Amino acid sequence: MALIVQKYGGTSVGSVERINAVAQRVIRARREGHDVVVVVSAMSGETDRLIALAKTIADRPAPRELDVLLATGEQVTIALTAIALEKHGCPAVSYTGQQVRILTDSAHNKARIMKIDAAVLHRDLKAGKVVVVAGFQGVDERGNITTLGRGGSDTTAVALAAALKADECQIYTDVDGVYTSDPRVVPAAHRLDKVTFEEMLEMASLGAKVLQIRSVEFARKYNVRLRVLSSFKDGPGTLITSEEDSMEEPLISGVTTNKNEAKLTVLGVPDKPGIASRILGPIAAANIEVDMIVQNVGADGTTDFTFTVNRTDYDHALDILKKAAAEMKARAVEGDNKIAKLSVVGVGMRSHAGIASRMFETLAAENINIRMISTSEIKISVVVDEKYIELGARALHTAFGLDRAVD
Ligand code: ADP
Ligand code: ASP
Ligand code: MG
Repeated sequence: MALIVQKYGGTSVGSVERINAVAQRVIRARREGHDVVVVVSAMSGETDRLIALAKTIADRPAPRELDVLLATGEQVTIALTAIALEKHGCPAVSYTGQQVRILTDSAHNKARIMKIDAAVLHRDLKAGKVVVVAGFQGVDERGNITTLGRGGSDTTAVALAAALKADECQIYTDVDGVYTSDPRVVPAAHRLDKVTFEEMLEMASLGAKVLQIRSVEFARKYNVRLRVLSSFKDGPGTLITSEEDSMEEPLISGVTTNKNEAKLTVLGVPDKPGIASRILGPIAAANIEVDMIVQNVGADGTTDFTFTVNRTDYDHALDILKKAAAEMKARAVEGDNKIAKLSVVGVGMRSHAGIASRMFETLAAENINIRMISTSEIKISVVVDEKYIELGARALHTAFGLDRAVD
């Protein structure tokens, strides 16, 4: 008998029929003798709908109030899931993040989990109940409702699995595992049996939204056995493992795409010490994450400085930058929010040269212009025009031998 945390994403609880199917799956695990804690997301589309609703009133709704609003999405599905379980004869109890005291910091809309009080959950499990917990939400020390950032229910599930010392955390979604690339973008992508934490971290941070990056960080830190599976069909899914456990090390494990990107350039900044901090300081103060950074070689005492941010932060960053540029007497500020990031990831590339050149040749053959490049030990990312992202991803997937064999 094991303790399992099962997380069901938006599509998996997207209708009453789907919620009934979730209840059946949970009951099956109980019949196999397991204790089950269920974490659910809001019904698919609901979080987007709520954000859009707030934005009809204000362009930038107060983050605290947005969290109060967004948390309602998950409150609906925990109740419906518990009702479905009870109806099928399975004792169940639902809790919001506040009720189980998923304690977070106060960074509204992107809060981090600090502590979870597992005592209540253990008590209910002992009493033979399935516990259904709202994903994506928590509460700060002062009792304010917080949310964990888009896709945050994955992190709730893994954090609960860590706090409860669960035997496995199962992420049920609308694909049957982690693929070599987003199957919606690259139809030839195939499921991986295993992927290492390190690769999964890179893939998640580079745009593979199948797992929220923080969930992978949590799983690695607390040694949670993490598996991604389909809620629609049975199968082994993908196990996220430590590197030591993985036998084969393909050169490239995945190709990722991310359209949530925008690029900003300050032209003609005086080339002297401190400019990077004068440009990026106000950006950081506004809690805007900066990703790639390029500073050109200076000429005639000035230089150009380019960096990328999430597209959602683009307008805000542009406003800030225009002020900073005027103060620094820079020539101009330019922006482009029609760019995207294309990356190849694999622990196998650590011991191989020539991956970058193969990547650049492949893109050149498709006539795709590379605008920025960044590398780490296990990934190479390039920024390209958004319109080329699908073409580029498919070409790289083929060039690195990842296409599924046609049978
Ligand atoms: P959920 O609502 O269950 O949390 P998400 O939409 O957040 O589901 O994540 C699942 C989606 O992630 C898939 O439908 C797929 O399009 C996308 N995805 C992106 N990259 C990958 C990948 N490498 N492997 C599998 N799915 C991926
Ligand atoms: N409902 C939230 C979202 O759409 C959290 C999640 O689905 O994980 O981002
Ligand atoms: Mg998700």
